[in-house]
Amino acid sequence: MLRPTRMEVSLRAVRHNLDQIRSYVGGRAQVMGVVKANAYGLGARRVVEALRAQGVVRFAVATPDEAVQLREWGVGEPVLVLGQCLPSAAGEMVAMDVTCAVGSLELARALSAEAERQGRQVKVHIKVDTGMGRIGFLPGELEAAMDQILSMRHLDVEGIFTHFATADEARLDHAEEQLRRFGDALDRMRCRGVRFRLRHACNSAATIRMPHGHLDAVRPGIILYGMRPSPLCPMPLNLEVPFEVNTAVAAVRELPPMWGISYGMRYVTRGNERIAVLPIGYRDGYARALSGKAQVLIRGRRFPVVGTICMDQCMVDVTDCPSVQVGDPVVLLGRQGDQAITPEEFASWLNTIVYEVPGMFSERVPRVYV
Ligand code: PLP
Repeated sequence: MLRPTRMEVSLRAVRHNLDQIRSYVGGRAQVMGVVKANAYGLGARRVVEALRAQGVVRFAVATPDEAVQLREWGVGEPVLVLGQCLPSAAGEMVAMDVTCAVGSLELARALSAEAERQGRQVKVHIKVDTGMGRIGFLPGELEAAMDQILSMRHLDVEGIFTHFATADEARLDHAEEQLRRFGDALDRMRCRGVRFRLRHACNSAATIRMPHGHLDAVRPGIILYGMRPSPLCPMPLNLEVPFEVNTAVAAVRELPPMWGISYGMRYVTRGNERIAVLPIGYRDGYARALSGKAQVLIRGRRFPVVGTICMDQCMVDVTDCPSVQVGDPVVLLGRQGDQAITPEEFASWLNTIVYEVPGMFSERVPRVYV
């Protein structure tokens, strides 16, 4: 790698976060490794490897393609696709022994027909929309749907799950109401003699705040990656952020007063200024919208990004620090000395949530595992 721009990922920190989650949850509920969206941007292949080595025996992804990818990497453990698969993906899902979330009869029928055609059984998890308003059977639809699903002999209905809409908000009443609806649905199923081997509901925020909802498994994503689901969510776990984004100073320039910096000349030097050029830009995911907002760490100090961030480069005002020179390490996200740019601060510059942060760095930023 000739360019120093990279995301450093500490698999040790991911394993540490897993240990924290496990000791909080206790032995009763299984921890499903949520590795969707390329493990939130950290790189699913190495993250999955690390989690498997630590004894995680079940994974969840968002799309059928992500599940196929895991199989191609040799992951033999159960993989659940959390999102809604199209019926046209059924053949591949059956062939790859992937578990689909089933929230519609069309998908159930397609999976069953494909499993019959391939002479196999396929595992499914029933999705119940208890108040997220995204996918799943409504509680009132569940019994009739289950009557049909249970008659499909090639489906192995292993699990049932729901997803909370507000577990990371200040008030938990809606999440509690969702859990109550889920419990009612399970009771009604039990009365009809239907039992599920794996009942699950909790994302990260609910794993922390609703231990009575842990059931048979929890599905933490964001806390595995060391971030709080929201600033409102209490954090009893001692999490470590397992990633940093780094580069190095590519050039240092002494510019005269009134010299425009970058496209649109939106920043103009006030006096003689020292401007450092960094080899990272919006094609790397260092969003143009960070222009004039972001700060970086060099020599343990904070410096502002000035002027418009370009596709491949951006500029930083280092006038205050004459010692900054070419090759100095630069932290765009992470720690240097006693300074830190946290995912929360980074997200605040973009008016977004931490979930978006690691994944916004594009494939051009190599993930380096340390
Ligand atoms: N379960 C489902 C169905 C999800 O969609 C997600 C992510 O959005 C998760 C679990 C993990 O959520 P979190 O990252 O908040 O733990």
